[in-house]
Amino acid sequence: MSAHMSPEEFRRHGRQVVDWIADYLAEVESHPVRSRAEPGEVRRALPDAAPEHGEPFEAVLADVERIILPGLTHWQHPSFFGYFPANTSGPAILGDLLSAGLGVQGMMWVTSPACTELETVVVDWLAGLLGLPGRFRTDGPGGGVIQDSASSASLIALLAALHRASGGRVAAEGLRGRHTLYVSSQTHSALEKAARIAGLGSANVRVVDVDPGTLAMDPAALRALLARDRAEGAVPAMVCATVGTTATTAVDPVAAIGEVCREHGVWLHVDAAYAGVAAICPELRGLNDGVAEYADSYATNPHKWLLTTFDCGLLWVGDRAPLLGALSVLPEFLRNAASAGGSVVDYRDWQVPLGRRFRALKLWAVLRWYGAEGLRAHIRAGVALAAELADRVAADPEFVLFERPRLGLVCFRPAWPGLPAEDADRATLRLMETLNAGGALFLTHARAGGRVVLRMAIGGTATERRHVEQAWDHVRREHSALKVLMR
Ligand SMILES: *Cc1c(COP(=O)(O)O)cnc(C)c1O
Repeated sequence: MSAHMSPEEFRRHGRQVVDWIADYLAEVESHPVRSRAEPGEVRRALPDAAPEHGEPFEAVLADVERIILPGLTHWQHPSFFGYFPANTSGPAILGDLLSAGLGVQGMMWVTSPACTELETVVVDWLAGLLGLPGRFRTDGPGGGVIQDSASSASLIALLAALHRASGGRVAAEGLRGRHTLYVSSQTHSALEKAARIAGLGSANVRVVDVDPGTLAMDPAALRALLARDRAEGAVPAMVCATVGTTATTAVDPVAAIGEVCREHGVWLHVDAAYAGVAAICPELRGLNDGVAEYADSYATNPHKWLLTTFDCGLLWVGDRAPLLGALSVLPEFLRNAASAGGSVVDYRDWQVPLGRRFRALKLWAVLRWYGAEGLRAHIRAGVALAAELADRVAADPEFVLFERPRLGLVCFRPAWPGLPAEDADRATLRLMETLNAGGALFLTHARAGGRVVLRMAIGGTATERRHVEQAWDHVRREHSALKVLMR
């Protein structure tokens, strides 16, 4: 037996793995949603050193079952309601498997034309499905690209924005003076991270006030802050508006913010990591009001709600020139006729690393398997279940609904009558911990309107009405038990 897995061996083990995944997904509900592993437990079960001699693949699969599985939180469990969904699906898994099997590294067009051109096709398809403006299309002045994450998308947008704000000088000379980035208290922490990576520093991340009720950014406060910073000599690089914040799916007023950005000539990035894909439904397209008119860049993650296995984050820019200006470096060993001819896209210039996976395959597989109507049905099912849950919460005097859900996220808290806010918040967290430790569901928390709220994010591939109803029953039951205990 040679050290390499022969095609015949691969066929056999490949079938075992596909069968194993099919069984796992069919029975995922039988596991506790959140892993019960103690810190270090998985590590202790594994050898201290790599094996000297090769082992049969069955041994790996057996250890996946014995050691890895108990150390997993089951994101594909239909009662996983934490964070946002990172839902996967059969076609996405198979598309990813094809990508691994082909082993293509698509850094440039010439390193695999189909890798680049399929990516161009699917990002343009998505731009059409989401109703994004023509300038975001590859045949316009801008274009789209598949990133690993919305965090990377934010960083790339910031680098392009800095390039533009510096008149193209930053790539060669580095940052001169003070550059600022505008966010709200509800903006994802990825933006502050991007500011650190880009060399702005956290101190130059300017936090704009939000409306205390809706938690949406206040455009007047942005205008005032921008004017003040400029008067003090700062160079504003970028404003990030969020469509669907992580805590509560608040939607910043993109058009009003865009108007302010235009007055000041500042780049507007729209982070719609979770919510953006919902615009595939015409009735939800209003989420993106203002994007077509004002956004310089826009990001959304098919790897959250759109059935595409992590990682798959989309970024579009309305003008690719500043992005390429910021990131294109051409060493001799990458020179080639196709790139020099200018008729091809080299996505290496649209991201941080040089190398890139063939991610378009899984997105393509998802788009073709479901079709736009199948994807709309999935989004609508999540929105409808969230609305039903919100009705139940609102009708229950023991609970307070934070607000009517716009999408798949429901935020609520027990009322805890008579308890001071701080004690009530502690009790809410205790309730969450009890629920998550029970294994029947998993949810997370956020702070909204100054209070701790529980977040139930609905949208998993396998989540049905009964899972949401069971979860709500669990919440009520554990809440009653805790009330008795606390008496
Ligand atoms: C999830 C999320 C992110 C981060 O997404 P990654 O792809 O994990 O980097 C950024 N912004 C918002 C609004 C999010 O909900």
